[in-house]
Amino acid sequence: AEKAVLGPLVGAIDQGTSSTRFLVFNPKTADLLNYHQVQIKQEFPKEGWVEEDPKEILESVYDCIEKTCEKLGQQSIDVSNIKAIGVTNQRETTIVWDKVTGEPLYNAVVWLDLRTQSTVESLNKSISVSNNFVKTKTGLPISTYFSAVKLHWLINNVRKVQKAIEDGRALFGTVDSWLIWNMTGGVQGGVHCTDVTNASRTMLFNIHSLQWDEELCNFFGIPMSILPRIRSSSEIYGLMKTGALEGVPISGCLGDQSAALVGQLCLQDGQAKNTYGTGCFLLCNTGQKCVTSEHGLLTTVAYKLGREEPVYYALEGSVAIAGAVVSWLKDNIQIIKASKEIENLAEKVGTSYGCYFVPAFSGLYAPYWDPSARGIICGLTQFTNKCHIAFAALEAVCFQAREILDAMNRDCGIPLTHLQVDGGMTENKILMQLQADILCIPVVKPAMPETTALGAAMAAGAAEGVSVWSLDPKDLSLVQMEKFEPQINAEESEVRYSTWKQAVMKSMGWVM
Ligand code: ADP
Repeated sequence: AEKAVLGPLVGAIDQGTSSTRFLVFNPKTADLLNYHQVQIKQEFPKEGWVEEDPKEILESVYDCIEKTCEKLGQQSIDVSNIKAIGVTNQRETTIVWDKVTGEPLYNAVVWLDLRTQSTVESLNKSISVSNNFVKTKTGLPISTYFSAVKLHWLINNVRKVQKAIEDGRALFGTVDSWLIWNMTGGVQGGVHCTDVTNASRTMLFNIHSLQWDEELCNFFGIPMSILPRIRSSSEIYGLMKTGALEGVPISGCLGDQSAALVGQLCLQDGQAKNTYGTGCFLLCNTGQKCVTSEHGLLTTVAYKLGREEPVYYALEGSVAIAGAVVSWLKDNIQIIKASKEIENLAEKVGTSYGCYFVPAFSGLYAPYWDPSARGIICGLTQFTNKCHIAFAALEAVCFQAREILDAMNRDCGIPLTHLQVDGGMTENKILMQLQADILCIPVVKPAMPETTALGAAMAAGAAEGVSVWSLDPKDLSLVQMEKFEPQINAEESEVRYSTWKQAVMKSMGWVM
């Protein structure tokens, strides 16, 4: 076999809500050389609760690294060419562990989890609307979504967590921190850190000063001693301690949506991308200024690519349930055996007729922020069959994306002329065409769909002391694109969209 002559390579760990991947890129061409993927089990122990096992998450990362290295070996690629590793992760998901034993003290409380709904409602009552210091400092509404309330719950409900805090043995982290602490040595000197993008999703972080905030920590009852150190998104945090990549620097860290923004090369003011995974997240780069939304969007840290580099901000429209509705039809209702089969069902009918599906399984996020909403399927008749419901589920994803895009256009003043997309669901061509029809603008998808991992690899490869990836705009060009043009008329699309909004109203205020 031909022996590949390659320069330095960069690896990326992409730890998502539904799966973990490890991918290896060539920084010269941004080509993906190989990868391995492992599914992650989600547990739903009670109504509205969502948990994952932190040990399983960690093992899946090690497993993906080893398997990818084996695959590269089979391609005659020497893994010693891998010069840096980036980490990108599901955001907000909350883990507390014991720094002496290395053991997690509870399952990871996943971002979608609703157990803090009553806490959120009483905190919202206690805070003045005209002087909402949480919103001003964090850019976020008080919601079940963010880490602070999950951590508050763990401290107040899990005896082992309380005890470990009293004994000075507890560490808190989002998934990035848990992975980096373990990979850099764990109980033997692991580095306890997070980056500014992940920190900006905890609701404990001041996005202006880029520091943990004492007033916020007091408000949510969080001891500051358990928080990780804040770092930029691109610098050497430590070296990999074990396995096939032992000794390689871990030098990039970005929350998954930030990583996708970087991987889609949305590095300038006004550039935006929408990612369709478990949830759906539209981020628009607002440059070095913090823009406050008037339409239910979040202000968040986009990235800070180096210790001395400036911080960039983004406006974000977050939708809790996108691909998760497809997983629900597969696992709970069992009308499909694999996620991709939804396309066959939807294609058979090509419309949902009068059926609308609002998948408010975790309440509604942007632009409504209603934790008391719950899912509904409405407009049913004896004519309705599973194909219509499948179609309505795909359409729901598109309508939700339309709502956050409308909010973004209103906040930014300049409407987006096309939408750059990525994520697992963008494999689905019916969904992509439907999205173009419902938005009435072209939807554009890169040929290399792993933009989240690409962004993390770019951050890692560009770090000071690594420098194998150039982030100079003139060296960056967008790879091949697939384009979906709107086909139905705008009027037809408006009618369906306004009926969708009526369905949303019916889903709200369900659980009080
Ligand atoms: P995450 O990063 O949140 O783990 P991914 O980007 O890996 O998510 O996408 C996985 C999600 O996309 C799952 O919820 C799955 O049900 C959904 N999905 C994957 N392929 C398809 C498809 N062809 N059609 C519709 N949904 C899909």
